[in-house]
Formats: sequence, structure tokens, C-alpha cells
Amino acid sequence: MEFPFNDAPNTAVITCSHVVEKHRPILYVSHDEDDGMWQFLCGKQHDESEARIVSLYYIFMLDHSIAELARLPYGYAAERESIETEWIIRKK
Ligand SMILES: [Zn+2]
Repeated sequence: MEFPFNDAPNTAVITCSHVVEKHRPILYVSHDEDDGMWQFLCGKQHDESEARIVSLYYIFMLDHSIAELARLPYGYAAERESIETEWIIRKK
């Protein structure tokens, strides 16, 4: 599968300890308006100590289903209830 994002594969993105260390599914994706930062989170509430910085390529290799969100505009977020359900996209 080709890398689907416009951003470079080595772009730094925010994820959480649950996704990278506990292998929880990615259920919340945000593409921030102000700085274009991507966030790929497990969907729970977080404090700062649970934030992790990884590359966009790393996240893509972890879960190819985020390819669907490669064109998510700035200022939008996507959520799903589980990896089997559809992404619901909304403006933040
Ligand atoms: Zn988490």
C-alpha cells in the first residue's frame, strides 16, 4: 500500500502511550488547525505524561485503516467507536 498522506513519512505526530505501548486501537484522529499537527489517540482522556511523539509512517504501519483519513482537512477530527465501525468526521 502506498503512503497516502501529503505530509512526509517522517512528519512528527502525537499519539498516546496506550496506542504505542498497550496496542489499543486508534479511535480518535485530529488534524489541528493552527499548526497542522496530527494526533492519533485511543479515544480516552489524556494527561501530558501519556503523550508520545512518533512519525506519521510509524502510525500508518501500525494501522493502515487511517489511510482513509489522509485528506482530513485542517481543523477537523475523526472518531470511531471501534476498528470495525466507520469514521465520523466533524469540524472541531
Ligand atoms: Zn490513549
